[in-house]
Amino acid sequence: MKTPQFADRHIGIQTEDLGVMLSSIGVDNLKTLIDQTIPSDIRLSKELHLPQALSEHEYAHHIHELASKNKIFTNFIGQGWYGTVTPAPILRNVFENPVWYTSYTPYQAEISQGRLEALLNFQTMVMDLTAMELANSSLLDDATAAAEAAWMMYGLRSREQQKSNANILLVDEVIFPHIQVVLHTRTTLQGIELKIGKRNNFIFDEKVFGVIIQYPDNIGEIEDYSSLVEKAHAVGAKVAVAADLLSLALLTPPGKWGADIAFGSSQRFGIPMYFGGPSAAYFATKDEYKRSVPGRIIGISKDVNGKPALRMALQTREQHIKREKATSNICTAQALLATMAGFYAVYHGSEGIRNIASRVHTLAGILSQHLKKWGYIQRNKQFFDTLTVELPYNEQIGSIRQAALAKNINLHYPDTNRISISLDETTGLKELNNLLEIFAKASGQKAEPIDNIHVQIYFEKKLLREDKILTQEVFNRYHTETELMRYIKKLERRDISLAHSMISLGSCTMKLNAASELLPLSRPEFQNIHPLAPASQTEGYNELIRNLSDYLCEITGLPGISLQPNSGAAGEYTGLRIIHEYHQATGKGDRNIVLIPASAHGTNPASAAQAGFEVVVVKCSENGDVDMNDLRQKAEEHKDNLAAFMITYPSTHGIFESQIKEMCRLIHEFGGQVYMDGANMNAQVGYTNPGIIGADACHLNLHKTFAIPHGGGGPGVGPICVASHLKPFLPITTQNRTNSYQSGLAVASAPFGSAGVLPITYGYIRMMGTDGLKQATAIAILSANYLAKRLSNTYGILYKGNNGRVGHELILECRNIKAETGITETDIAKRLIDYGFHAPTLSFPVPGTLMIEPTESESLSELNRFTEAMLNIYEEIKEASSNELMKSDNVLINAPHPEYAVTSDEWTHPYSRQKAAYPLEWIRENKFWANVARIDNAYGDRNLVCSCDSLIADK
Ligand SMILES: *Cc1c(COP(=O)(O)O)cnc(C)c1O
Repeated sequence: MKTPQFADRHIGIQTEDLGVMLSSIGVDNLKTLIDQTIPSDIRLSKELHLPQALSEHEYAHHIHELASKNKIFTNFIGQGWYGTVTPAPILRNVFENPVWYTSYTPYQAEISQGRLEALLNFQTMVMDLTAMELANSSLLDDATAAAEAAWMMYGLRSREQQKSNANILLVDEVIFPHIQVVLHTRTTLQGIELKIGKRNNFIFDEKVFGVIIQYPDNIGEIEDYSSLVEKAHAVGAKVAVAADLLSLALLTPPGKWGADIAFGSSQRFGIPMYFGGPSAAYFATKDEYKRSVPGRIIGISKDVNGKPALRMALQTREQHIKREKATSNICTAQALLATMAGFYAVYHGSEGIRNIASRVHTLAGILSQHLKKWGYIQRNKQFFDTLTVELPYNEQIGSIRQAALAKNINLHYPDTNRISISLDETTGLKELNNLLEIFAKASGQKAEPIDNIHVQIYFEKKLLREDKILTQEVFNRYHTETELMRYIKKLERRDISLAHSMISLGSCTMKLNAASELLPLSRPEFQNIHPLAPASQTEGYNELIRNLSDYLCEITGLPGISLQPNSGAAGEYTGLRIIHEYHQATGKGDRNIVLIPASAHGTNPASAAQAGFEVVVVKCSENGDVDMNDLRQKAEEHKDNLAAFMITYPSTHGIFESQIKEMCRLIHEFGGQVYMDGANMNAQVGYTNPGIIGADACHLNLHKTFAIPHGGGGPGVGPICVASHLKPFLPITTQNRTNSYQSGLAVASAPFGSAGVLPITYGYIRMMGTDGLKQATAIAILSANYLAKRLSNTYGILYKGNNGRVGHELILECRNIKAETGITETDIAKRLIDYGFHAPTLSFPVPGTLMIEPTESESLSELNRFTEAMLNIYEEIKEASSNELMKSDNVLINAPHPEYAVTSDEWTHPYSRQKAAYPLEWIRENKFWANVARIDNAYGDRNLVCSCDSLIADK
């Protein structure tokens, strides 16, 4: 017998199951099925050229070698990334725990109460530290959060401001350079005029709609901004401030001096630097602006029995509902990292966070006093953790750099005669003494070692925060490891993840996230690398990034790539901006129309709007395909302004449309570019690709197709792959991006976005190899067709391709059921919870339907269990609609049945408790109990509460 290789572990369908599945759908072999499914004119003629597949053991060795090429130095670079200690119980019980990292975005709130509470803690922490009234959870990074703030302030302009075209955004020149460059990319096409200058020289007039400042700024200076805010408000401008969360434990928070928006990174709350990402950005504002907030807001509502329950609030702002009019295109958004940052605050609590901040500040204070004594000129008068100094003698910068490197220390050198030093949670006396020694020596002095410190405040009293932080109960209960471990466990038991059962979410590709792919993320050589560290220290990352880029280019058939975007939607935005730059360069910069099929994902129109384009919707015909006549007509009608066509392939209906090459030809004929949404790449890998189809640009979702887990809504990576004519316009990745931003795009804080999770995709490709990847595609398609066959005589399958096949996913028709019985697709989705399953994708892309994507990782027995549940639910629908008593009181409309309801002494329903909770015998094996009954969404939107004070009080 041969030893199973990684692909055999990743793919759920075993060789002996193949026969059953193939004969059930009526084909002899997989090749025939693929020939019937994927059109012949887009098939690859060659196998992918990828390295030989490694076994898990070989890969462990390989990734160890690669990791060893990264050098861990002690970093004082700062600039938005800081050393931090990830508490071991959070690393082990959350970050390395599949219940937390494989769960999906909490759209199905009833099975997401655990992660929703964790995110509510994050919001509460942010609101408390910033003293703002409302916070979201979360955004992609601090730079894109700045862009969202700019866009939000622009959208909030008064009628007069709009009339007089108040379009100036004042930006302090001492905000982090990476924020500046992203703001530049993200505002130029929005009609916003960016004025970057010194805050003391800002000219406030009626043309100014917004101001962005930083606290502390990137010199490390802290200042009382109240009068600046007053001046801005006097001309009707709003003020957004990038604020360091840890510093707010000591400093007067932005909410106290009138800021309208506070945003920034939560990385230093226990999230490793990971060469730049992932970590969660926070975004907080005033209650009156709640309908304009980008991203997700977790809020408290109640279930049908009045029990407090959490869910995502105010979703009508979001892209899946508002499309091109949405507040932003944010979908995937760093949920796992926000969860972890929230737990960091829970673990350390009120006292703990304050102590960490005080210690960092005290060490900075001691350093400051010594440096001044030795003749260094400190540029910032007031500071929290960062000092910027000029050297007493010009020529010493080189020798300081050398002395630091010799001690494995990185400092920040913003220009030729300045050094900046940022201290952090990991700085101890040893690190302090090393710094003192370096700077003493360079100025010809001697440093006396320090062996003891007394906490002290070194800035003016008026900047000192007066109120207590994090007084909420949740931040003051779980400070021992035992208590924290059990709190994490309590929450995780409320959630369904891949550790429980298959998650058949169409379009989301909830496949296996293998342990062997994820383990390397716990290595310090990947975790503790600063994105601005010298290249000689990051060779492991650089090699991994180079190789992975090559593999993804080979897989997509497109020669250019950027790994910078932090989500699929960010990839879309980037691709569209690249297309704009291309048109601009060829003298067609006024091409401003993007054609998008009606069936597109909401992020497509939302991204197009953010990139400054106008969206024109293309109809779908009866069979679900793009209406070719409508496409031709609209392409021709807009031929002078046609910028691009966005198309998902296989379509969001799960169908390989046979006309895809003709669509591309048509768009090109009228001067447009073809943008492919690659969310469905799992149906293409190894058999076809965007390059051969004729697309010019395509984003991938590494958190769908390429094995990065969903994390309850992020991290994500949305690489953008492009044809050669678009390569010159890819985002710039040089570290010092400010020097070149006039000539290039920047779409994320870090040059390589969420570099820290790239080893997952790298491992997936290295262990699957060419054959494994191709087999995964074929099995994903087989499993979808198997489910389509098994469910076609009951619910019915909405769309099929030319040969009667679906692609890698299928849409279940539920609208007839609703018309005949009143039972909705939502009732079916909620009833699945009682069977222990997460619902398929609900009402996307077609309202009133469910979309199922099994992926290649599920076994035949799991597919059968799911089918059995769906078929039993179908019987329950029939029963409910034919029984008078059950018409308004049945297992479907009452679903899910939480434990508290099933075990209650009171039971008035016309069906038994057993039927409610155990409709099939095997459910007893592994029962999932929902913590709450069906949640009332509207109630929570009318009474918006998004911090945890009241949650605890109600309990
Ligand atoms: C998931 C998805 C997106 C958005 O990707 P995010 O990473 O969530 O931003 C876009 N289009 C389609 C078809 C998708 O399924």
